[in-house]
Amino acid sequence: MKADILTIFPGFFQGPLDHGITRRACEMGLAKIEVHDLRQFTHDRHRTVDDRPFGGGEGMVLKPEPIFECLEPLGLGTRDQRLAGAAKESVILLSAQGERFTQKVAAELATLERIVMICGRYEGVDERVADFIADRELSIGDYVLSGGELAAAVIIEAVTRLLPGAVGNEASTRQESFTAYEPTEDGEVTENDAADSTCNSGGLLDYPHYTRPADFRGMPVPEVLLNGDHQAIRRWRRERALEKTLRNRPDLLEVVKLSEEDAKILARIKQDGIK
Ligand code: SAH
Repeated sequence: MKADILTIFPGFFQGPLDHGITRRACEMGLAKIEVHDLRQFTHDRHRTVDDRPFGGGEGMVLKPEPIFECLEPLGLGTRDQRLAGAAKESVILLSAQGERFTQKVAAELATLERIVMICGRYEGVDERVADFIADRELSIGDYVLSGGELAAAVIIEAVTRLLPGAVGNEASTRQESFTAYEPTEDGEVTENDAADSTCNSGGLLDYPHYTRPADFRGMPVPEVLLNGDHQAIRRWRRERALEKTLRNRPDLLEVVKLSEEDAKILARIKQDGIK
């Protein structure tokens, strides 16, 4: 996958993307990330990328010209082709007003050949970018950042780890928190049979993980994990995942498909109270 980032702060990305799985994915040639400096697409002495808002009001707005001029030579399909799914590409505007970026969206983006991310700053980006060149607006959460750069880094990290081969053990990315979706061969992202009875998170939060030492300063690892009874471990993990989801993210329980076994466990947890 090729990822292009359009930003007025290209230096921002030296660091965040140079570690761990993202770095490895780039080294292995699974991902290629190119950062474009929007100031190089200005034509005045001051390399101006922003201007005052029409209609008055606070702050400055990123001008459309550098963004359009930076995007045009990238050799993408037309917006209509992209929106029709004819080009495996997506142009994304990072915005607090965007659709929420979730694991499902990450899985969708991981099936594409190219993603282009436009990072806003100041009060935001001239709306013609959203209306005429971006395919979608994405927000990484209900809070306001000062710029889209961190959001772009978050999206790249979440997407690159889903690229086949990026994570050593691919099964591990299928078992994680929120994961109830898998891409089919033709790249569509479908809901899998969410809550099967394996340790697949099925859209819930992940179960707790422990490693050695088995007793750390008098804090022991749960006994069940030490005795090698895989059925008991599976049940325990599922129970803890359900309990944690109920405690921290009850909203997820409204949307996931629970198995009969899960529903029973959940009813018991509710009856006994969350620990
Ligand atoms: N006036 C805007 C906020 C602008 S913040 C509003 O109230 O909605 C400046 C830039 O930061 C935005 O253009 C966007 O690119 C980025 N940004 C801020 N919050 C974000 C979020 N939650 N997700 C993604 N990008 C965000």
